[in-house]
Amino acid sequence: MEAQPTASHFVDGDWLEDTAGAVIESRYPATGAVIARVHAATPAVLDRALEAAGRAQADWAARRPVERGRVLLRAAGLLRARNAELARLETLDTGKPIAETLVADAASGADCLEYFGGLAAAIGGETIPLGRDFAYTLREPLGVCAGIGAWNYPIQIACWKAAPALACGNAMVFKPSELTPLSALRLAQALVEAGAPSGLFNVVQGAGAVGHALATDARVAKLSLTGSVETGRKVYAAAADGPKPVTLELGGKSPLIVFDDADLEDAVGGAMLGNFYSAGQICSNGTRVFVQDGIRPRFLERLAARTEAIRLGDPLDPATQMGPLASDAQMARVLAFIEGAIAEGARLVTGGRRWGNAGWHVEPPVFDGVTDDMTVAREEVFGPVLSVLGFAEEAEVVARANTSPFGLAAGVFTRDLARGHRVAAGLEAGVCWINAYNLTPVEMPFGGVKASGFGRENGRAAIDAWSRLKTVHVGMGPVDAPF
Ligand code: NAD
Repeated sequence: MEAQPTASHFVDGDWLEDTAGAVIESRYPATGAVIARVHAATPAVLDRALEAAGRAQADWAARRPVERGRVLLRAAGLLRARNAELARLETLDTGKPIAETLVADAASGADCLEYFGGLAAAIGGETIPLGRDFAYTLREPLGVCAGIGAWNYPIQIACWKAAPALACGNAMVFKPSELTPLSALRLAQALVEAGAPSGLFNVVQGAGAVGHALATDARVAKLSLTGSVETGRKVYAAAADGPKPVTLELGGKSPLIVFDDADLEDAVGGAMLGNFYSAGQICSNGTRVFVQDGIRPRFLERLAARTEAIRLGDPLDPATQMGPLASDAQMARVLAFIEGAIAEGARLVTGGRRWGNAGWHVEPPVFDGVTDDMTVAREEVFGPVLSVLGFAEEAEVVARANTSPFGLAAGVFTRDLARGHRVAAGLEAGVCWINAYNLTPVEMPFGGVKASGFGRENGRAAIDAWSRLKTVHVGMGPVDAPF
């Protein structure tokens, strides 16, 4: 098998196998061929991972922050040196084109390790003058944290959780999605090579049951999930028993608003980026494209022409621009949404059929005439399905954009600077782009509001998610007791 790892898990600084766990097959979405088989973690594997993480955390937290940062920076260097190999692995596991995985996956993971590696030594508390007395705060690690990942950006998600967690002095047990078990193992290996203590970052395989076991284990101090709203609710409920803090990075149905005065090619490009990159399997995608009436005919014409020019094909071919969906189930789901949209009266402008004889490709459809009540405008598809909705007025479109229970992201294209900022201020979303879409540099916080979750990854804000404050009040004079 082309991508078989040395063993299923990476625990306590080394590969670990336990064949008693259920078999998980990883398939190459372009052909359906099995590329690796791993086993789900048994209770014995989880125990070893959590015990090792507990030991490693004590050692790690006692190290100087600058030393912790250096380990993350060295790991970033290893990911960069192995970028081509990791890109190939990610393409085999997810089906995303190599043209994307070479620039977006391990590379953005390395950015994240560099950002938090650099920040590690600057994480600290503050001094609070209180007249005669004073107080100070200590920023402490939480302990052993659990990360649970989705399948669209496997190594990036692992890095987005591991890098800030480790920078703050925590240890982690990470469970990748059962659909994409491979690349997180390579991050674990790189961290050990970079000097992380054995057990600091462990990878265990499994599906929801293993995630649930982590969520409910008393040794886990904090949970961070990237996944669907449905899973988010379960993880949040499981954490309530602790209770333990949770970060939830969930799904979305984000609006992208194009005003008449927008640069046409930029707006079309933004809408395509926000719907078709990674075959549409991106949580922050702008899947409700609201286009003002004056520009709509020209917008649709250019959108259809540029969409029809997208090169679908073998994800390992550097010329391929769109690969297959990540699984046959996901392809079936996407095709069902397309049929449903047609049945509910949306106008199919282009695309929408299954493509090729093997694998799970779908020709990206563009729909026009989508209305707010249609299923395709309300539910997350997680596939390359672009819906255009018309609008006339700014106030109307902001109100309609905000009717969604989700609130992950939003975008606005306009040449009117004041309107751009006004609309961004009015949208209920964790991340807004003005004249851009889906850019997620590590320097800026990322996360949702409403049903899309809470807590932030990336940026300085992530430090709040992976540390806790201790306040120390220092009395500098006699105690003034009323007794
Ligand atoms: P999913 O919810 O099915 O699974 C996510 C992870 O949770 C997997 O590792 C899965 O094994 C685990 N899991 C499932 N049940 C669990 C349980 N009861 N307890 C603990 N863990 C459990 O999501 P998916 O299909 O892998 O990913 C797609 C979803 O993720 C979409 O909704 C997408 O929008 C969202 N997503 C969000 C972001 C973000 O940053 N906001 C990024 C990527 C994907």
